[in-house]
Amino acid sequence: MEERFKKLGRFILSQLKKIAIAIPVAFLAVVLYVQCTKIGSNLMLEPSGVKWYVSDTGVSKDDIQAISDIVNKSLYEKGIDTRDFDVNIILCNSTNEFLWKALVWDANNQGITRHLLDNIVINKSSIKENKMDGFENSSLSDIIIHELCHIYLSKRLSKWDAYFMESWKNEGFCEYIAEHSTIGVDNGLSLFLANDKSEIEKTDQIKNLYFYFTSRLKTDYLLGHKNIQFEEFVKTEYDEVALEKEIRSAIMNGEYEYMP
Ligand SMILES: [Zn+2]
Repeated sequence: MEERFKKLGRFILSQLKKIAIAIPVAFLAVVLYVQCTKIGSNLMLEPSGVKWYVSDTGVSKDDIQAISDIVNKSLYEKGIDTRDFDVNIILCNSTNEFLWKALVWDANNQGITRHLLDNIVINKSSIKENKMDGFENSSLSDIIIHELCHIYLSKRLSKWDAYFMESWKNEGFCEYIAEHSTIGVDNGLSLFLANDKSEIEKTDQIKNLYFYFTSRLKTDYLLGHKNIQFEEFVKTEYDEVALEKEIRSAIMNGEYEYMP
């Protein structure tokens, strides 16, 4: 009996030790997260529910206003009103700043949405030229529209449902709304029609760009070409291989033309 109590005591003690370590570690992680996503950026514009933070001191309020106007107008035309949002957009001045603030390791990310704090962190860009640095097919406004669209999905569906939405639908819908193509259309379509895995998976970067390209293509086919309703699109579990096969033959026989 006594041995059992001792055993129980040791067990409770070991659990308490774990909790004692976990609490400061969790606290430090939260502090680090908050610091990383805020420090070093100046609030430049706060016209509605979207606050713009910019690190580049050479950028004026008018430069940000111009990007903000493009973003708001483009989303408004698609029925998305950014005045309903409560979100911070953080425009980084270097890739290092982006990796640090977004807490990611991969510099191939152009932007990232952190739902926990409603922060959107954007990789290095040329704000005055509305261009992403190092990504020839991307404008800054495209990337911001894509990320705001993630916020829109989490509002329309709930954060939980948006988070667990299939990745190709989630990214495909945002690319579709942003009218953004990670790779050129001719290049992407020839990869898609050939469906040669050795080409598609040649490098991690091509694989990643191809994933975004085909996600938008599938979304465009379903929502734009077949006129599937948003709710049905979200809840239907598509067989991706069969869907891609269907799209390939629709393109080949001229029934569907992908014109992004
Ligand atoms: Zn995305």
